[in-house]
Parts: sequence; structure tokens; C-alpha cells
Amino acid sequence: MNVSVPSLVFVAFLAAYLSIRGVFTHRARRDKAVSRVDATDRGLVALVGIGQIVLPLLFVWTPRLAFADHAQPDACTVLGVGAMASGLWLFWRSHVDLGQSWSVTLELNADHRLVTRGVYRFVRHPMYSSFFVLGVGQALLLANWIAGLSALVSIALLVIVRVPNEERMMIGQFGDEYRDYMRNTGGVVPRPR
Ligand code: SAH
Repeated sequence: MNVSVPSLVFVAFLAAYLSIRGVFTHRARRDKAVSRVDATDRGLVALVGIGQIVLPLLFVWTPRLAFADHAQPDACTVLGVGAMASGLWLFWRSHVDLGQSWSVTLELNADHRLVTRGVYRFVRHPMYSSFFVLGVGQALLLANWIAGLSALVSIALLVIVRVPNEERMMIGQFGDEYRDYMRNTGGVVPRPR
């Protein structure tokens, strides 16, 4: 069990993250018209859950990952809080801007609206960007090689595998409108104009 201040701060942010997800899952539409959900995409969602939730909680509440503990300077806690707070803001903002167009996996509504405003003006995948920022916060707050880095590794895999599929699906649905949008935005990192 690791009840250090940074670990407990992490757990508080995790609770806020899960609450935001819970609210938007409750509001999400269930009548999706197009689904590109397959075993790979489901596997990626599960992997991110393990990286963001399961391994960190295993580290905080049990001694199982203690063999991979390391020392972390105090400054990491301050930087970690900053990263978690900004990542959480971007996560919430992406949900608000995407509205009913959001889904956990690759799906489209019958009357799907392409969102290009709000944080979607700058990047096409702000929610995945927020996962990276939250992942940096996790690495800074959890002084353990496995629990600290698990989110960043699983999110990198999600982005590498899912983004090309997601963009293919969006081009299939919106054609040139999405191609134009791609020309004017970055993927997970804003493109300098
Ligand atoms: N990749 C985006 C969205 C993640 S949620 C992000 O990181 O912010 C995944 C779902 O969002 C997809 O199934 C797709 O239906 C929807 N989506 C992705 N980009 C969109 C956009 N610009 N406008 C509308 N819906 C979008």
C-alpha cells in the first residue's frame, strides 16, 4: 500500500476523471448507426483502462508493484498536479465540444455532426491529447516504473492503432469536409499556423 501524498492526489484526480466520464456516458446517445467496433478496438479500450486505472490502483492499494518503485523528487508532485489539472480540463472540454458525437469506441450517429469548433479547432483528437497530458501527470505522481508509465504506453498504442482507423471512418462519412479539416489541424499536437 502506498498512501503517499502524490499517490492520494492521483487517486483524487482519477475519481474526478471517472466522474466526468460517467456523466458523459450517461448523456451519450445509444442509437449509433455506424459501428467500426472490432476486437482490436475493444482490446485497446481495455488496455487504456488497465494503464489508467487498474495498474495505478494496484500500486496505491497493494504491494504487488513495489519491486518497480523508484525515488521521485518533490517537484514532481507540483508538476504532476499541474499536468493532471490541465489534462482533466482538456478531457472535460473535449467532451463538451463533441457533445452527442462522442462514443467510447468507433461509432457514428445517423445524423452525425462533424465538430470543428472549440478545442477541435486546434487538434482533431483533443481527447487523446488529454490522455497524454493526464499520462504525464500519472508518471509524475506515481513513483513506480509500471504504474507511472502504464497510461502513456497504452495511450501511445491507442493513438498509433486507432487514429488511422478513426480518420478513415470520418473520411468515409464526411469526405472532403474531413480532408479539409485535416489540412487545417494537427492530430494530437496543435499545428503551428
Ligand atoms: N478522436 C477524438 C474523439 C474521440 S471519441 C478526440 O480524441 O477528441 C471517438 C468518436 O468521436 C468517434 O467514434 C467519432 O464518431 C467521433 N469523432 C471524432 N472526431 C470527431 C469530430 N471532429 N466531429 C465529430 N465526431 C468526431
